[in-house]
Amino acid sequence: MTDKIKFDVYKQERLQKCSMCDRVKQLTYKITIYDNASTDNIIMSELQCCKVCGDNLYEILNPGSNRNPNEFVKKTFVFSNK
Ligand SMILES: [Zn+2]
Repeated sequence: MTDKIKFDVYKQERLQKCSMCDRVKQLTYKITIYDNASTDNIIMSELQCCKVCGDNLYEILNPGSNRNPNEFVKKTFVFSNK
C-alpha cells in the first residue's frame, strides 16, 4: 500500500493551507497518491501538507517505524575494494 503513496519534501517550505489540517502553515510535504488498481503510476490525488500532518500520516502508514520521511536516502554509494 505504501508504495502507492509517495512522500516528497519541498526544498523550500511554503506558506499555504495544509490539505489535511486546513491551517495556513509552512508546508513541508507533497504527498502523491497513486491508483492502487493500476500498475501504471496513475495519480489519484495530491496533498500538500505541513510537517506535523505529514509525519503523522507517515507514522500511520508505517507503524513502528522511527524513520522520518525527511530522512529518505538521497543517494546510495557502492563501495568496492577492487
Ligand atoms: Zn497540517
